[in-house]
Amino acid sequence: MERTLIKDLRGKIDQTVKLQGWLQTLRDQKKMQFLILRDPTGLVQVAHWKPNDEILASNIASLGAETALTIIGKVIDNPVVKLNQLEVQLESLVVENLAESPLPFDPFAETLPALDYRLDWRYMDLRRAYNYLLFQVQTTMEMAMREYWLKHDFIEIHSPKLMGTPSESGAELFSLDYFERKAYLAQSPQFYKQMAMAAGFERIFEIGPVFRADPSFTARHMTEFTGVDLEISWIDSHEDVMAFEENWLQYVYARVKELHGEAIKETFGVELVVPQVPFPRIPMRDAVEILKSRGYVLPADKKGDIDPGGEREIASYVKEKFDHDFVFLTDWPIGVRPFYHMRLAGDETLTRSFDLIANGLEITTGAQREHRPEILAKQALEKGLHLEPIQYYIDFFRYGCPPHGGFGLGLSRLLMVMLNLPNIRDCLLYTSDAADDLLCVDLGGRRIIKKKKIEQQHKFKN
Ligand code: ATP
Repeated sequence: MERTLIKDLRGKIDQTVKLQGWLQTLRDQKKMQFLILRDPTGLVQVAHWKPNDEILASNIASLGAETALTIIGKVIDNPVVKLNQLEVQLESLVVENLAESPLPFDPFAETLPALDYRLDWRYMDLRRAYNYLLFQVQTTMEMAMREYWLKHDFIEIHSPKLMGTPSESGAELFSLDYFERKAYLAQSPQFYKQMAMAAGFERIFEIGPVFRADPSFTARHMTEFTGVDLEISWIDSHEDVMAFEENWLQYVYARVKELHGEAIKETFGVELVVPQVPFPRIPMRDAVEILKSRGYVLPADKKGDIDPGGEREIASYVKEKFDHDFVFLTDWPIGVRPFYHMRLAGDETLTRSFDLIANGLEITTGAQREHRPEILAKQALEKGLHLEPIQYYIDFFRYGCPPHGGFGLGLSRLLMVMLNLPNIRDCLLYTSDAADDLLCVDLGGRRIIKKKKIEQQHKFKN
């Protein structure tokens, strides 16, 4: 018999069906047993009349919550039943995998353990409908991204993650043994995206892993994350890249709202707003002045960069002034941008680059890239880089390469923003934090708390 999903039961009244899922709760009464069965599509009440089969009744009585079951039963329309106004009358049951008890924690309890504890038991934590929805939203996000790209003639690439030379700066670089020599984990697909531009692909995207050996454990940084990258040829400036990104994001938001808007509101309490285009744009020079005028002091070591507090303050300004959740900060000083960002005509101290801040969190860095090899080499030398290790990259631009630009966006950061979640670890299937025993609890801060300490503080119910 084929499996029926719980969401489809209404169409199967008076039929015998096969259900497969988890025993969420069991109410064992004198004559009746009520099993609440869960599959990813919902919950249903399964009823067993004990005198029908005493052996089955005692088997059911011994089942722990979260046991994986296959159930055969007849679907009955029953307006008295609160759950979907129907129930399944049990005919037979197979225990596929008995759940031990007690559970490490009850994923359906009203009060849940702290995130770090739940991450230790992630496969239990992910059983919550909340998490299922979160990954459904992520799936739709990626689908919508791809839909938009394919409509606009993009090609997908998969660039190597093991590299012979660093793809960005020497900082935040993981190195490893590669037979007799050293290799590095890709900090971005930057070089390969640009290689594709030199190859004439014109419009490319990649969704793939990115590695950063960044020891600052914050609520928005991972040492491994999923990067969403794209690159476009024949642009006039970074403005073309921003224009593409805002329309693309508007489409992604609209698709997510269309498919999950109601569920997101119910589960995450978020009314998803499809952003209006164009997003506001503020040159960095003006942003610094705006921050000053609002009494926000940027840390002295930032040298033209902005800190997370500053990002949030600019976001408040933009919300007040433009009633918008997104803002492009543009024209960043060369000191805080990589050597391959093209400089602004008329002011060599600035770059044709931007960051996108969404609800106060940076989600994207983008730029027009320098595609003229002699200028690129000069900019690299100015940054103190040696040309030899990056010569193969500079060579991409020696044989006819169009002007181009692109951006990188953190997939989980976008999800955080969309669902208004405070910690990036909420948005990941599992964290690969190398320092697994460390956890940062405050958004944007650098507060590090020993996990063991949190565990001691946590009063665990089971
Ligand atoms: P941040 O200033 O937040 O450290 P960054 O400027 O180093 O970010 P980029 O190198 O520009 O980030 O990477 C592009 C995008 O990738 C970022 O805007 C962000 O969305 C995401 N990202 C960068 N670093 C991380 C990280 N460690 N964990 C998760 N996402 C990240």
